[in-house]
Amino acid sequence: MIFRQKDFLSELDAEEKKHIRSEQVTIAFKQSFASVFPLFFAGLVVLYLFFQTPIFLITVLWFIVVMITLVWRLQILYTYRMYPQRYDSKAWERKFYYVMLTSAFVWGSVAFFIFKSPNALHQFFLIFLIAGIASIASGTLASLFGLAILFLFFLLIPLFGVMFFNGGLEYHMMGILVVTFFLLLASASRRIHTNILSSLVSKTLHEKATQAWALSEEHFQTVFKEAPAGIFYYNSDLIIIDSNVEMMQILKIDKAHMIGLDLKKLPDHSLYEALNAPFGAKKGYYEGPYTTMINKIDLWITLRTSPMYDSKKNIIGGVAIVTDITERINAEVKIKHQAYFDALTDIPNRVLLKDRIEQSLAHYRRHRSLIAIMFLDLDHFKSVNDSLGHHIGDLLLIETATRLTSICREEDTVARLGGDEFVILLNELGSDPLSAANKAEKIAEKIHEVLSHPFNVGQSEPIMTSSSIGISLVGSDSQNADDLLKYADTAMYQAKKEGRNTTRFYQTQMDAWIKKRLFLENGLRHAIKNGELELYYQPVIEVKTKKIIGAEALLRWNHPEMGLIMPDEMISIAEESGLIVPIGEWVMKQACSQFIEWKTHHPNGVEIDRIAINVSAIQFRQNNFVDKVIAIVTETGILPSMVEIELTESMIIDKLDTVIEKMQRLREFGINLSMDDFGTGYSSLAYLKRLPFTTLKIDRSFIRDIMSDTDDAVLVETILTMAKIFDLDVIAEGVETVEQFEFLERHDCRYFQGYLCSKPVQVNKFEELLSFDVQSCNSRV
Ligand code: C2E
Ligand code: CA
Ligand code: CA
Repeated sequence: MIFRQKDFLSELDAEEKKHIRSEQVTIAFKQSFASVFPLFFAGLVVLYLFFQTPIFLITVLWFIVVMITLVWRLQILYTYRMYPQRYDSKAWERKFYYVMLTSAFVWGSVAFFIFKSPNALHQFFLIFLIAGIASIASGTLASLFGLAILFLFFLLIPLFGVMFFNGGLEYHMMGILVVTFFLLLASASRRIHTNILSSLVSKTLHEKATQAWALSEEHFQTVFKEAPAGIFYYNSDLIIIDSNVEMMQILKIDKAHMIGLDLKKLPDHSLYEALNAPFGAKKGYYEGPYTTMINKIDLWITLRTSPMYDSKKNIIGGVAIVTDITERINAEVKIKHQAYFDALTDIPNRVLLKDRIEQSLAHYRRHRSLIAIMFLDLDHFKSVNDSLGHHIGDLLLIETATRLTSICREEDTVARLGGDEFVILLNELGSDPLSAANKAEKIAEKIHEVLSHPFNVGQSEPIMTSSSIGISLVGSDSQNADDLLKYADTAMYQAKKEGRNTTRFYQTQMDAWIKKRLFLENGLRHAIKNGELELYYQPVIEVKTKKIIGAEALLRWNHPEMGLIMPDEMISIAEESGLIVPIGEWVMKQACSQFIEWKTHHPNGVEIDRIAINVSAIQFRQNNFVDKVIAIVTETGILPSMVEIELTESMIIDKLDTVIEKMQRLREFGINLSMDDFGTGYSSLAYLKRLPFTTLKIDRSFIRDIMSDTDDAVLVETILTMAKIFDLDVIAEGVETVEQFEFLERHDCRYFQGYLCSKPVQVNKFEELLSFDVQSCNSRV
């Protein structure tokens, strides 16, 4: 019985147990009030029964005691009712115990009167009275079970004693009956007690739960409204059910747009995984850029999602908490930018430059793709600063940075180290140091050229400036960024010493190259005689018919020791040594004879109607250049209209009149002239009108990016339009993909060359191409 109670109470804390106990006391108080008046009458009846008997006086005394206990009880009940706070629950309980136990004893003592009356009816009434009180008390006091037992005990013990010790078997039996009666009542009382207690406990638990729920609901509402984060719920259809104000502020929309928003229709799919995580009973997380659906605001957010359950623990949706960290990210980006970019010119600073150099070096170690560092220092910058002021100096630096960036390729890095020092990192220069050096040198020439134009900065007169450039090329795996920068710096000082506006390579590297150069130069002297030179041919294709209509002759050198040497490696050597003149003649003769050969002896060769020959500026500058060309054409018997001479812009920069005159003579003779690598120069557009070109060849660097770079696409379109206006043919160079081909087809480009159809190939290969031209090119494009 005791253990049962503990079981009940085990879920409660001390405070709640105390509360239940006081409830028990309250119940007992209320119940016992009801029996006050019946007991008063019962006392009167007893008084009446013993009227005029010998024990009347004792009865009267007894009655007075009964009255005192009743008044005492009433007083306690009354105070409890009016001033419950006067004592604590324990004290009330104690008082109640005293009065009830006294009362039990007083009423139990009635048993002593039983045999004082000879009247059996009286005896019966007294027994009935005690039994009645006992039955009622077992119920009314059941909430305080201990009290009920004690009450019954004190009430019944005199009756038991009077019966049991009165002699006679019947009375013994009646004494035992009293004990049985006591046990029956005790067990009934226990049942009632258990019921009372269980209902009290469940009531308390219920109250506790209700309170906790109300509290958590209140907390939740506070969090929902006041949290410095956006919160929204959505159901299993990914429809938003509710959202707090902060969320709507983040998205800059109102409640009408927010509620009912279908998250399935988000154009930005980056959030889906996190939004769907709750339906797999998981938490979801996303951090990153997000473009809002309605206002298209670009944000950077974090999104945390958790499942939302119903009372049966089924997942019915998700709760999402969103924080807008756009400002923080922007600040971080800005700080990062400041760490890596020069504040004045907004180009990479030393830190980023070194990082990029290290990256390029790593790439070099893996792929043998050479890189060069160009150290550039403006000549006389100090005097500009001193005489015109820092402001003008700054503007000059900004403009310099702009010009340098404009001529470099995307894969290169133009950086400012500070002051008037700039560094350019050139990537992907190929695997051959000599041709890499040539490329770097060409870029240095371009730099001298772009910086030679006047700078119109501020209100002052245009400023003229020049630069000294030092170049170092990566030479071994062990070199790091600092080494390369140091070498380039040293070379730059060398350049300065040797007169400004010059370029110098780092000396030890130069020694090695000079050696190689000498070696190649010596070899080249005998190359023609030894039959080591060879022409490869690349087909020129008409876009519309996809047929080969001509060929470009491209020089190759089969070196006895070094194998196949490409033009990039040898042309500059040939130019500097003057060997380009005899070599160029050989190329022209060879190409023209080969063309005649195809025309007369090859069945399909008849259809091709032009042979393109590259001519170097040095060659073109020779006084007798035109005569030589005419002589070769006449000698070989080729129709001049089938010859196309390819010139680059570099030869037309100076002595324009002579250039025009030579070109006109060639044109009068019937030879076609094309402008090679069109688009890479700087001054060509203005000249174009004055120079009698027949064809433009769009440089392959533009074709390479037409699909990815809109600037290049627009440029190619413009060139094509302009060519139409000037009535020039256009050949697109370096077409490698079908997409590029289709672009050209769409924009009415007439001819193309490129790996898409064929690389430059040897004679017999080219003849094969001629036989299958339609198939071979059609199959690809
Ligand atoms: P170029 O006149 O612009 O010749 C085209 C170059 O682009 C050739 O390189 C060719 O192999 C390459 N090419 C053609 N189609 C594609 C393509 O789809 N993708 C790529 N990535 N490249 C393509 P090559 O034969 O190494 O010649 C390099 C340069 O050397 C020529 O550029 C030309 O300026 C010069 N050159 C070649 N032969 C002679 C010559 O006999 N005399 C002179 N003076 N210069 C020559
Ligand atoms: Ca060419
Ligand atoms: Ca070209």
